Amino acid sequence: MNSAVIAIHGGAGTITRAAMDAQREREYTEALEHVLREGQRVLAGGGSALDAVTEAVRLLEDCPLFNAGKGAVLTHAGTYELDASVMDGATLNAGAITCVKRVRNPVLAARAVLEHSEHVLFAAEGAEAFAEAQGLELVSPDYYFTQARHDQWQRARATAGMALLDHDAAALAAQAARAKQPEGTDPIDPDRKFGTVGAVARDARGNLAAATSTGGVTNKQVGRVGDTPVFGAGCYADDVAAVSATGTGEMFIRTVAAFDVSAQMRYAGLSLEESARRVVMEKLTAINGRGGLIAVDRAGNVTLPFNTEGMYRGIARVGEPVNVWIYG
Ligand code: ASP
Repeated sequence: MNSAVIAIHGGAGTITRAAMDAQREREYTEALEHVLREGQRVLAGGGSALDAVTEAVRLLEDCPLFNAGKGAVLTHAGTYELDASVMDGATLNAGAITCVKRVRNPVLAARAVLEHSEHVLFAAEGAEAFAEAQGLELVSPDYYFTQARHDQWQRARATAGMALLDHDAAALAAQAARAKQPEGTDPIDPDRKFGTVGAVARDARGNLAAATSTGGVTNKQVGRVGDTPVFGAGCYADDVAAVSATGTGEMFIRTVAAFDVSAQMRYAGLSLEESARRVVMEKLTAINGRGGLIAVDRAGNVTLPFNTEGMYRGIARVGEPVNVWIYG
């Protein structure tokens, strides 16, 4: 296997067939397919893995179905705080931003940090000032607004103030609608909620890259930072593997999940698939970490493990049809 390939995810969580109607399922499938085709096009044109993942995540941020950029979830205060990261496996160059409130495409700001700064991670106003100085588009918070996330946030607030993973919150809404109960009265399992988007790619030269972007978890405390902008946790790429994660960010930070996929391959000689499986199915679950990751290695192998009911995900190899999946 030696071809260029891109894989993407749109978050993991309680995504069950029962909580989805046909129309919504089609919307997600079409959105994922579109993004994969665009990523595939970048790679087919000789573009780098870094360019492919940046473009894929930019498109996912612009799509309101996913919890990143437009469609991001709200903090406990009803504000938006977005995180994003990009890493180039060929050089170990990396860029990330966290807690930004006005950057239209956080992944482009992360990419600008990677390319134009001696630093790796910028936060809040400093990140916004950097993005603005780089000529990136700033928006008012209204830009991120979607009614669905707003309703989700209100339900989460009504339920003991717990932070909720995006797709778990969506499942809860569907469940409440089916049961014809007032949505705010449903019990929310605190372990069942995620969103986030990401991409990993291997280009024709064999170089790897990863990118991840998120609004975080619904109803999170202001100033909370998850795994997405933390290299080694929610995003990592070197010359062994590229990884983008989604799930309970705190656990991905504590297990250094994304780095561990590469490390187990390098130091213990595991395959990509076995390494990723151990991280998601053993190490994360051991501390009640929920979610999944997407990963690609230098040979172009791809694996997409998750320990939740579903994960929006897909793979596109150059010259082959795209494949998209939602459920387990
Ligand atoms: N990992 C993200 C975070 O903790 C959330 C998610 O994947 O939905 O911010």
